[in-house]
Amino acid sequence: MEIPACPKCQSINIVKSGIIKERQRYLCKSCHYFFTVNKIGKKIDDYYVTKALQLYLEGLSYREIERIIGVSHVSISNWVKEFKIKKPPHPNYHPTYKIFNHTELLEYLKNKDKLSGAGMIITELGDKFMMIKWERFKD
Ligand SMILES: [Zn+2]
Repeated sequence: MEIPACPKCQSINIVKSGIIKERQRYLCKSCHYFFTVNKIGKKIDDYYVTKALQLYLEGLSYREIERIIGVSHVSISNWVKEFKIKKPPHPNYHPTYKIFNHTELLEYLKNKDKLSGAGMIITELGDKFMMIKWERFKD
């Protein structure tokens, strides 16, 4: 079972802290928030696998993906091997990301000029959203 990220601050610096009503309780050591999660089943695992592989293809490192979705870099590297994912080279671009709340995201999306040719993807990040874009290296 994977260790979840803190729903408040997205930290993965958390420890188990008892079981309440058959659900595992955790304590976030970064912001001291207690939370419980449902048993992580196959469905959620698939969700994380797809998300991790998406981010990997975008050019993010295992450690960055670990920080973003709270799944260990070892699992991510295993999935990359298991599904034989090969990252195509994109030497002219590097990924950059921005974190938005919902209102900020909508505001950003209004400007079409910012979206063209940027290989943009949007992914959930707790109660916020992360937008990944490519930035062209300057010659
Ligand atoms: Zn936290």
